[in-house]
Amino acid sequence: MSIASPSTAVSNSADVVIAGGAVVGGAVACFLRKLGFAGRVVVIERDTTYAQSATARSAGGIRTQFSTPENIRLSRASLAIIRELGFMDEVGFREQGYLILASETGRATLAANVATQRREGADVVMEEPAALAARFPWLSTDGIAAGAFGRSGEGWIDPSSLMSALRRESRAMGVEFVTGEVCGIDVVGGGRIDAVRLTNGDRIVCGRLVNATGPHAGALAHMAGVALPVEPRKRYVYVVDCRDLPRRIADAPLTVDPSGVWFRPEGRTFICGRSPDAAQEPADLDLDRIDHDFFDTEIWPHLAARVPAFEAIKVINAWAGHYDYNTLDQNGIIGRHPELANFYLCNGFSGHGLQQAPAAGRAIAELIVHGRFVTLELTRLGFERIARGEALAEQNVI
Ligand SMILES: Cc1cc2nc3c(=O)[nH]c(=O)nc-3n(C[C@H](O)[C@H](O)[C@H](O)COP(=O)(O)OP(=O)(O)OC[C@H]3O[C@@H](n4cnc5c(N)ncnc54)[C@H](O)[C@@H]3O)c2cc1C
Repeated sequence: MSIASPSTAVSNSADVVIAGGAVVGGAVACFLRKLGFAGRVVVIERDTTYAQSATARSAGGIRTQFSTPENIRLSRASLAIIRELGFMDEVGFREQGYLILASETGRATLAANVATQRREGADVVMEEPAALAARFPWLSTDGIAAGAFGRSGEGWIDPSSLMSALRRESRAMGVEFVTGEVCGIDVVGGGRIDAVRLTNGDRIVCGRLVNATGPHAGALAHMAGVALPVEPRKRYVYVVDCRDLPRRIADAPLTVDPSGVWFRPEGRTFICGRSPDAAQEPADLDLDRIDHDFFDTEIWPHLAARVPAFEAIKVINAWAGHYDYNTLDQNGIIGRHPELANFYLCNGFSGHGLQQAPAAGRAIAELIVHGRFVTLELTRLGFERIARGEALAEQNVI
C-alpha cells in the first residue's frame, strides 16, 4: 500500500476499475451495465490469453448440492442468469446432475444437506443403494449408505465459453478492457482507494475498485493493506479413457465418492480429481507440473472400486489449476470492505466460483449501483466474518 496525495498527477481515471477480467470480472462488468451504470468501467487484465486463470482450468460444474443456503441460491441464480442472458447453447450446459455418495458415517450429514437444498427449491433426491443401483447400473454401491442426486438444475458447462460471453456482452455495452498488471494501490486518508498502479507505469484513478483476481485476490488486497485469506492452491484434473465402457455411463452425473474422488463424462472420455488432504497440499504451484503418482495412489483405486468398468482406465491427459482458496472457510467473500469504502471483493470461492460468478457479479454490481444487495441477501458472505475470524462453514467443498 502506498499513501497517495490527492494532487498526484493523473494519467487516467475510471468510475469503476475491475482488476481481473475472467469470469468474475466479466460478470461484475456485465451487470454494472445491465443495472444501468453509465460511468466509465475499465477492466484490467494481465493475461489476455486467460490460459492460467482458474476459470479456464475449471471443471465447469454447476450444482445445488451445498450445505449453505447462500451457496445454493448463488448457484441456482447463476444458472438462471446464464439462461436469461441467452448463453445456454453457447456454454453447452449438460444437465446430467451431481451424485454425491455417502458411507454410513456421512449419511446423516447428506440427509441434512438434502433437506436444506430441497427447502431452497433444489430438485435433489436422496436414494438408497438399491435405487442407486437401478438408476446407475454401472455403479458399485459397496460401502454406500445413500446417495443424493440432482435430477435437474445441475451439471456442467464449458467455463471458457461463459467467460468469453460475459466479456463480449460487457464490451458491447461499452466496458473497456485494458491489458496490464496491477502492481500497486494508492490509498488516501479517510479510508479510500485513490488509484491503481500498473507495471507499465500507468496510474488509473478509480472511483471504486473491484477485486476479481481469483487465486491472486489475497495478493491484490495486500497492495491496499487488506489481509484477505485467499491464495492459490493447486488442483489436478485427469482425463481418462477406457475401452469397453457400458454405453449408459455416458449419461453419468458428476459423481462424488465418499473418498472425495469425483468423476464425470467429458465427450468420449472422463475427467476426474480429488482435493488433497491438508498434508498433501502441493507446495509446488507450477501449473505445468502434474503429479501422476497422486492419480495412481489417491484416485484410481477409488474409481476402480466405485465403477468396475474403470479397472481398465488409462490417463490420456491432465491439467492443473489454481483454486481461489479461502483459507478461513472455503466460501466466497462478496461485498464491500468495511473500512476501505470503495473497495469491493468478489473472491475466495475455492472450487465453486465458476457456477457462482454470474450471481456474485450481479451482487457486486447491485452494491455499486444501489448500495445494497437487491436480488439475493448475501450479507453473511461479506468481509465482516473474515475480520471477526468467524468461519461460515460449507460441508460440500469438492
Ligand atoms: C481445477 C479446477 C477445477 C474447478 N472446478 C470448478 C467447478 O467445477 N465448478 C465451479 O463452480 N468452480 C470450479 N473451479 C473454481 C473456479 O474456476 C473459480 O472459482 C473461478 O473461475 C474464479 O474466477 P475468477 O474470475 O475470480 O478468477 P480467475 O479465473 O483466476 O481470473 C482472475 C484473473 O485475474 C487476473 N489477474 C490476477 N492478478 C492480476 C493483477 N495483479 N493485475 C491484473 N490482472 C490480474 C488473472 O490473469 C486472471 O485472468 C475450479 C477451479 C480449478 C482450478
